[in-house]
Amino acid sequence: MKVFNLSKELLAYKNSQFKDKKIAFIPTMGALHKGHASLMRKARNNKMVVIVSIFVNPTQFNDHKDYEKYPRTTEHDLMLCHGQGVDIVYLPDKEDVYPPNLDKSLKFDLSGFDKVMEGEFRPGHFKGVCEVVKRLLDLTQPDYLYMGQKDFQQFMIVGRMIDVLDIKTQLVVCKTSRERSGLARSSRNTRLSSEGLANAANIFKTLCAIQKSILTKEVDRLQAYGLKKLKKYGFETEYIQIIDGATLQELESEERATCIVVCVAAWLEGIRLIDNIVIRQGNLILI
Ligand code: AMP
Repeated sequence: MKVFNLSKELLAYKNSQFKDKKIAFIPTMGALHKGHASLMRKARNNKMVVIVSIFVNPTQFNDHKDYEKYPRTTEHDLMLCHGQGVDIVYLPDKEDVYPPNLDKSLKFDLSGFDKVMEGEFRPGHFKGVCEVVKRLLDLTQPDYLYMGQKDFQQFMIVGRMIDVLDIKTQLVVCKTSRERSGLARSSRNTRLSSEGLANAANIFKTLCAIQKSILTKEVDRLQAYGLKKLKKYGFETEYIQIIDGATLQELESEERATCIVVCVAAWLEGIRLIDNIVIRQGNLILI
């Protein structure tokens, strides 16, 4: 496994060593866990050369404290990548990703995908995500981009960006990897107490309960039920929304939508957790 701090060197190495190979790229913010490892494993199983980036992107944090508190565990991350057979790790500093002369002005229509849910509660977040993913794709030039279902709105927005800008990289979305309790694996989980960790499993339990009732109860009532249940467990919920997975708009009724997803963001012990469940898959392909 090769580790590069400079994209120039990475690209030169990649082009000389893996010229005719299929390249999969996995952008991460580090603090790697089994969820990230599952993306790496899937890329390897698909016979790809795997490039992982580890970069806590400052431009996607709307709260600077959250950026500072984001866990950084580089040594452990490199060991995890090595264990998963990753070929190249890109471990840049801010200047390599955002040199002073870089034109970051991305202007394209995200079809309103960036206005709802995370977009409402984390202003500027998706602008930062698009900025960094576009830049990392330019720097690594992969055939495939592997992302997780866990960040549903994020992969939808990146997919939209790829379409609109006609980027020659194909998005591959990997199912959410969960703890035995059902809790979605996340770098933020390490900041929960053991009690909080056990309680956090109630997010997924709530999503599953909604899934069970989707055919028999109205959407509004189900959302209210979810909110109430999470409150009972001590969560402060920002949103719990049943959406049309193709448009990200709130569903009015389940009848006509071919893709239905329930998305949630809730705070526990000062940690913001997100999760989702795909109830009806439509055209969505998850591996
Ligand atoms: P992050 O480091 O949180 O930015 O995540 C990097 C990538 O890993 C994103 O595409 C995430 O959606 C994905 N990811 C994070 N956690 C999980 C998980 N539990 N299951 C599947 N993918 C995940």
